[in-house]
Amino acid sequence: MRPWNFSAGPSALPLEVLQHAAAEMTDWHGSGMSVMEMSHRGKQFTQIYEEALADLRELLQVPEEFDVLFMQGGASAQNAIVPLNLIGRRDARKADYVLAGIWSNKSHKEAQRYGDIAVAASSGAQADVDGRTQAPWTWFPKPADWSVRADASYLHICSNETIGGVEFPDWPDMKSLGAPEVPLVVDVSSHFLSRSIDFSKVGMVYAGAQKNAGPAGVTMVIVRKELIGHALPICPSAFDYANVSAAGSMFNTPPTYAMYMAGLVFKWLKKQGGIASMEAANIAKARALYDYLDGSSFYVSTVHPSYRSRMNVPFFLKDESLNAAFLEGADAADLRQLRGHKSVGGMRASIYNALPLEAVQALISYMQDFERRHG
Ligand code: PMP
Repeated sequence: MRPWNFSAGPSALPLEVLQHAAAEMTDWHGSGMSVMEMSHRGKQFTQIYEEALADLRELLQVPEEFDVLFMQGGASAQNAIVPLNLIGRRDARKADYVLAGIWSNKSHKEAQRYGDIAVAASSGAQADVDGRTQAPWTWFPKPADWSVRADASYLHICSNETIGGVEFPDWPDMKSLGAPEVPLVVDVSSHFLSRSIDFSKVGMVYAGAQKNAGPAGVTMVIVRKELIGHALPICPSAFDYANVSAAGSMFNTPPTYAMYMAGLVFKWLKKQGGIASMEAANIAKARALYDYLDGSSFYVSTVHPSYRSRMNVPFFLKDESLNAAFLEGADAADLRQLRGHKSVGGMRASIYNALPLEAVQALISYMQDFERRHG
């Protein structure tokens, strides 16, 4: 058995998927070639791409009016590609950003190169949230408190802040915010495929693959067709959604092997019963871990209970002088990559789709044991 891998990304992939890829590594379906060695325009890779596309559309029930693009550059490149493509939709060249952690802050900063960018709301201050005092970046601003400019080209949010462990799945209807013409753009990187997406609420979502969808290298963009075709003249051709869409994600050589691997993950997800079953499993995993944290006086979780991420669970030892011993013991117990992000400290358990409840139970049982020995 392999150790349980709690990395925030690149993160654990289903063992079955890795074994499947290994088995056809040197000869894909009798072609005499590895997927890495095939032309992206050939019949074989076209089949791989078309199946991946269809499976992803089916899993997420992507409506017809959306295009699905496979791009490169990660979610970080989208921080520029989004404004380059969307900000020119409207003459004012405005875009608004909700800030709730490191990733949304990075998106906001990058966008400033391309237009008139404003902060619609921010959780970057201590606040009273439903009767609890919350530290900065441990909660999510309520939509009623967002101020969105009605002439903005889009509103950007990050719906799962991977580092802070803050998740915001209840996206508002933009009409209710008095901005019906402003499409919602969502960075869903770290909870993509962990739950369903209500596409009626969004203009586009994007995600780097390296959490729930496959290896790093491919970025998935699911965008309303009506938003495509407004790129600024300075937008690099390979990053213009219109070019990528017209070429079926083959404007230039796409990350073929990463797309193939993502395709295998999509087939694995279908075999598990699709997104609904994954979501149920993710709820059970997160509940087990948060219930344990809430019941313990040795560990603490600082994110507001209404915004706790099901995917990324930061937690702290009350006595931080035990951090090194905790990580050393975890490693010996085959529980890997639990160190928190340096900006937050403490620990972080990322419990993506590929990790079963058994992994979370193994973590809890190690935590109980550590508490008994040091508490
Ligand atoms: N957004 C979120 C929510 C992320 O978790 C990450 C990566 N951890 C990024 C953006 C940046 O992704 P990439 O490194 O693929 O550019």
